[in-house]
Amino acid sequence: MSDAVQAFMEGIKAKNRAEPEFHQAVEEVATSLLPFIEENPKYKKAKILERICEPERVIMFRVPWLDDKGEVQVNRGFRVEMNSAIGPYKGGLRFHPTVYLGMLKFLAFEQVFKNGLTTLPMGGGKGGSDFDPKGKSDNEVMKFCQSFMTELSRHVGPNTDVPAGDIGVGGREIGFLFGQYKRLRNEFTGVLTGKGRNWGGSLIRPEATGYGAVYFAQEMLATRKETLQGKHCLVSGSGNVAQFAVEKLNQLGAKAVTLSDSSGCIYDEAGIDGEKLAFVMELKNVRRGRIKEYAEKFDGVVYTPVDKNLDYNPLWDHKADCAFPSATQNEINAKDAANLLKNGVYVVSEGANMPSVPEAVEQYIDAKILYGPGKAANAGGVAVSGLEMSQNSLRLSWTREEVDQRLQGIMKAIHEQCVAHGTDCDWVNYVKGANIAGFVKVADAMLDQGLV
Ligand code: NAP
Repeated sequence: MSDAVQAFMEGIKAKNRAEPEFHQAVEEVATSLLPFIEENPKYKKAKILERICEPERVIMFRVPWLDDKGEVQVNRGFRVEMNSAIGPYKGGLRFHPTVYLGMLKFLAFEQVFKNGLTTLPMGGGKGGSDFDPKGKSDNEVMKFCQSFMTELSRHVGPNTDVPAGDIGVGGREIGFLFGQYKRLRNEFTGVLTGKGRNWGGSLIRPEATGYGAVYFAQEMLATRKETLQGKHCLVSGSGNVAQFAVEKLNQLGAKAVTLSDSSGCIYDEAGIDGEKLAFVMELKNVRRGRIKEYAEKFDGVVYTPVDKNLDYNPLWDHKADCAFPSATQNEINAKDAANLLKNGVYVVSEGANMPSVPEAVEQYIDAKILYGPGKAANAGGVAVSGLEMSQNSLRLSWTREEVDQRLQGIMKAIHEQCVAHGTDCDWVNYVKGANIAGFVKVADAMLDQGLV
């Protein structure tokens, strides 16, 4: 770490205690940006990076609700409104027991740069709760969502802050949240994205993050005149992002061989084809079961339960060409990264946010593989959320083909920006490229708008 990054991080850590994910996200960005800022004193003088690291507003609130037994439950709700220089705050809601302020600050911080890359006018935000939808009835999830939105509705709106889904928040939760907002405000408006098709949602929004991560890998491979055809791919998670990453990989002639959830992972050497993927979608989105059932249903599949004593994740220890981490932050540690490289993986396109620890990223960069960091590779989700906002404003619905084409165009544009800002001799450092390109867009708008 350079002296400049160290000094910068000391300030961040002193001000944001006990928020390790936020420190990690800021350090990665500061490492790319501080030399660039040194060369561009206008950003230094206006302390743009220091300002970007400070949320414009943080809302934290009590979420009381009654469970099916009539018992009172209390959760904590958050919305981090990080930066609105280029548009209304935009970013998902996460419902997971590990959610706390520092996690949402890291996600909101990443979102600012990601949204800057999409070419669309969206600021950055993130929110959620320590509520765990797993094991709850639909009725309990609805009651929680209604209580959560009762407070959140004061702070969001189609021109102010437009949340979407993230871990634990899918179509069901967005529906309950939207219903409560509409009831409280008596307005039918685009206050959330990821809505149902019949009530303002966009085609391709559910698919967008997974598809986008695959399109990004396709763009990276094209720089080496290669395609995804015939490539073996490791995918983690089995939720929204993972499911549609596998669908797009199948469409492009690649073979996905792994999936996981927080209980374990499956390895299917024959490949997760369309029929098997349909089983996963029903399992996860309707029955809300565990991935273990995949191995019980199909022959020749190995299921490995999570072993807390292992210092690596067996999912990343298979021969493959590409990896699409699509579960959660820090799911690839240094040993996992070493295993990926040892097994021949030379494309990592991150569907999840910050899934690789810094020591893993260092290894990708040293090995000069094609590494697309989350803020670039998974920006397809928020990009189509932006397209959903446009369609809501126009009161129009674009066709599947039109949205998909725009998504592909946006992923291509993000890739081009990374190449423009991240090329070092004959190699593209996509981390540097994404950080600088996202920063310049937001920073220039902040300079134009004065000290606010
Ligand atoms: P999701 O539908 O809730 O699925 C999450 C998946 O990851 C599930 O299989 C879950 O397993 C697994 N998982 C979650 N936390 C885990 C943990 N601590 N350890 C192991 N496995 C864990 O969520 P998603 O929307 O696919 O999001 C996945 C990732 O993509 C997140 O990093 C999210 O921030 C990122 N992302 C999502 C979008 C979007 O549009 N949805 C956009 C950009 C980025 P269990 O069911 O067992 O918990």
